[in-house]
Amino acid sequence: MTQTIGTNQMSHQYFFADHHTLPLPANHRFPAEKYMLTREGLMEIFSLTSDSFIPSPLATKEELLTTHCPIYVDHVFNGTLDDRAQKRIGFPWSKELVKRVRASTGGTLAAARVALETGYGAQLAGGTHHAHYDFGSGYCVFNDFAVAINVLRAEQKIKRAAIIDLDVHQGDGNAALLADNPDVLVFSMHGAKNFPSRKHPSDIDIELADGCDDNGYLSQLALVLPHIEQFMPEIIFYQAGVDVLATDRLGRLALTTKGLAQRDHQVFSMAQRMRVPIVQVLGGGYGEPLSTTIEGYLTTFQVARQYYPTPY
Ligand SMILES: [Zn+2]
Repeated sequence: MTQTIGTNQMSHQYFFADHHTLPLPANHRFPAEKYMLTREGLMEIFSLTSDSFIPSPLATKEELLTTHCPIYVDHVFNGTLDDRAQKRIGFPWSKELVKRVRASTGGTLAAARVALETGYGAQLAGGTHHAHYDFGSGYCVFNDFAVAINVLRAEQKIKRAAIIDLDVHQGDGNAALLADNPDVLVFSMHGAKNFPSRKHPSDIDIELADGCDDNGYLSQLALVLPHIEQFMPEIIFYQAGVDVLATDRLGRLALTTKGLAQRDHQVFSMAQRMRVPIVQVLGGGYGEPLSTTIEGYLTTFQVARQYYPTPY
């Protein structure tokens, strides 16, 4: 497809899932409003209209079954998980929750399809890296990256995929579901002392000490990225969690927003140099105040746009 720059200002389109509200009790500590605030922030900083935002399609049962246990999927759909399983997820069950978690999984798959066509795709949700084969954990019900990779591999759209998971928490679900697959490289860089306490080995794990700052963080990342390049993936899934920021109440690290931007420059410049499509999802963010989390997410989108200014 061709376009004339200047007369037809093409914009990226972003998948979003926050129209399916996450019904939480009043005292729940999960900052559910961050998704809508990020969408509104993007509209403002890039002067977008609602045309630039596409509701994330709901992942189908068939798509989920490429990755998850049929009994678990049925329990989630029907609201029959036991209390312990529900507590481990951290959200109370509701019909809206099922739609929401299907959307955040389907949206990552849809964004990956866009990335395969245009080089870049993004969802304002996703990064549910603590979801395992037959249980959910840490606010994650279904594993969006694993479902997207398994569906695209089954369709023979891709063979090799890499995950770059820079959320401050280890991607234990990604590791458990994908690290044994020689065609998928799972990389996680995370706080050594942070959740989950029992970490599942990824292909590459970098553990960071509490209080790790910009310099420590960026130098470690720069050492790993050449391994991703050598692996020669056909697509990269980027979990760009911003809970690495110093202002995050769960993070335990000490990154600044400037350091976060440099993190994202490292990732996007590599993907662009390699000409490998990249899918960006939000991941974690629990800032105090929450505006620091939104600023972090918007920073990542701004850096992405420097490398992918238009969709084609
Ligand atoms: Zn996290």
